[in-house]
Amino acid sequence: MMIVMKSEATPEEVRAVVERVESVGAKAHVSPGEEVTVIGAVGDREHVQRLGLEGHAGIDQIIPILKPYKLASTEIARGERTVLDIGGRKVGGEHFAVIAGPCTVETLDQTVDTALAVRDAGASLFRGGAYKPRTSPYSFQGLGQEGLHMLAAAKQESGLPVVTECMDARDLNAVLEVADVLQVGARNMQNYPLLTEIGRTGRPVLLKRGLSSTLEELLMSAEYILKEGNEAVILCERGIRTFESAHRFTLDVMAVPALKEMTHLPVIVDPSHAAGKRDFVQPLSLAAAAAGADGIIVEVHSEPDAAICDGPQQLRADDFPDFLRRVERVAEIAGKGLAAAV
Ligand code: PEP
Ligand code: MN
Repeated sequence: MMIVMKSEATPEEVRAVVERVESVGAKAHVSPGEEVTVIGAVGDREHVQRLGLEGHAGIDQIIPILKPYKLASTEIARGERTVLDIGGRKVGGEHFAVIAGPCTVETLDQTVDTALAVRDAGASLFRGGAYKPRTSPYSFQGLGQEGLHMLAAAKQESGLPVVTECMDARDLNAVLEVADVLQVGARNMQNYPLLTEIGRTGRPVLLKRGLSSTLEELLMSAEYILKEGNEAVILCERGIRTFESAHRFTLDVMAVPALKEMTHLPVIVDPSHAAGKRDFVQPLSLAAAAAGADGIIVEVHSEPDAAICDGPQQLRADDFPDFLRRVERVAEIAGKGLAAAV
């Protein structure tokens, strides 16, 4: 439930409510707003119902949050949208974030060159996988630690914050050395111990929707991260499984406005993995921008034909500036501007 304090509530009154919430084994999430402080009491339903806070000093209103996802819900943010600051790049609100880079880190030159190319075109963050979730155990699995070092070099050279996937909590410390945003891939969306560990790091997270997951399941996974006190979660629609087999996945464009209604968290779209095909990446990116997405994460490679994985869907670095100008125009119509460095 959500406890809205009176505007004149004292810090002692806020503390007393927090103590009461914690005394029943629930967690108190305090959001000191400009006008009033709101306390989210999250925990076992029965315990929360037994709080008996009615009439308690300093409390204005007690509002139940009916959704199973509490901290991710629009209710708890009382109409405000979460805007993240990742190394000076804003994600959410009126900002359109462009996360671009190769599917996987292959060589130092390929990584650094792509980072510089996407930066010069106006991308706000750099993506690249060192640990790759592959359907076949015989496929290239990523360069691991060596790949992380290449990402560090790309970050150093380009100044772009890095988004990279962590698949296994055992790699977390190494990934934290370079990642400004920890990516949780679609296949790990429901790896709850991993979500909890990642939540505890406090590092911003890019949480991708599972291949066959509902929006509610996506938000419940976000809840695992938020519950650990990590409020920096970006959600990503990346295509889902449907009966259609003509292309890799089906991009659920409707997920964007639907999630915006359900949650205060920023929502971005991955057109590359949805499409599996380069020619579809631009139309899907324009659709994402038009639908009100807070950004896109898109695969770009200096030589896609020679890429180790996902070559057919990666944009050519040479085509990226023109692609981005078109996306920018549509984002502008939807009320957003490219999230450049401040
Ligand atoms: C990726 O972005 O590198 C990736 C593997 O995507 P997904 O988890 O959405 O398949
Ligand atoms: Mn890929």
